Amino acid sequence: MARRPSILRELVALRKAVAGYRAEGAAVALVPTMGALHAGHLVLVELAKKHATRVIVSVFVNPTQFAPGEDFSSYPRDLDRDVTALAPFAVDAVWAPEAALMYPEGFVTRIALEGPAKAGLEDAARPHFFSGVATVVAKLLHQVAPDVAVFGEKDYQQLKVVGRMVRDLDIPCEIVGAPTMREPDGLALSSRNVYLSPAERALAPALHRILCESAARMRMGDAFGAVLEAGRAAVSTAGFQLDYLEARHAETLQSIANMQTGPVRLLVAARLGRTRLIDNIAV
Ligand code: AMP
Repeated sequence: MARRPSILRELVALRKAVAGYRAEGAAVALVPTMGALHAGHLVLVELAKKHATRVIVSVFVNPTQFAPGEDFSSYPRDLDRDVTALAPFAVDAVWAPEAALMYPEGFVTRIALEGPAKAGLEDAARPHFFSGVATVVAKLLHQVAPDVAVFGEKDYQQLKVVGRMVRDLDIPCEIVGAPTMREPDGLALSSRNVYLSPAERALAPALHRILCESAARMRMGDAFGAVLEAGRAAVSTAGFQLDYLEARHAETLQSIANMQTGPVRLLVAARLGRTRLIDNIAV
């Protein structure tokens, strides 16, 4: 039954709500988002409900993970619509802090990362990105103190960066990855897909198709180097500006030579006009 979650905007209210859940003996899950919710986010919510009896969704467009010139100011924001979208899922609360609460005057702390955050993937195109993400996720995990937090495999490098940070900083929270939700034609759902023109939208599924074809060739035993070269050419020929197409170790995100050396993840980022699309699949 549809039940609109309560919207919490102050830390005191958040902590009181979580203390109430704890007093019931409930396990608590957090689903961090930047809002503009779509069916992919709702998959995360459903998975959260399998891990906990109380689910909090955070909605915060985090300024510190956007570089100047990126889409921070134009990023779609509609909290009322987001809360309505969550109502059928029996989410308990939406944590929607203002930027001034997250980053009060004089805020100077940022988490510095190595390892999966320096894999030469998203970090190459967006050098500010992961320290901004890690810092805000660390804050959210301290604010909510959930047992479990759910992140999408759609942002695969982010999932690995957050998992490593939680382990390294002894944050007592399990990080759970959720599979990528796609349109019927294979395009990964993303809040940024609204930026695509109709012509770009028609081209966009080529990215997932090329990932699938490349992964199939790798599984058949074709040399990774040749497959990646052909895949990169195919992405460009399809009309994208390629940022990267890489095969990496699925846990460390280090380069990987072949199927025998460990689990493989194929990751891509490419631009169509002003929209940057990312995707990845298991090989
Ligand atoms: P965002 O609001 O775009 O920052 O995303 C919030 C969370 O939703 C992140 O953990 C994303 O990886 C996840 N997410 C975004 N798109 C999808 C999708 N298509 N399928 C599954 N999870 C997604």
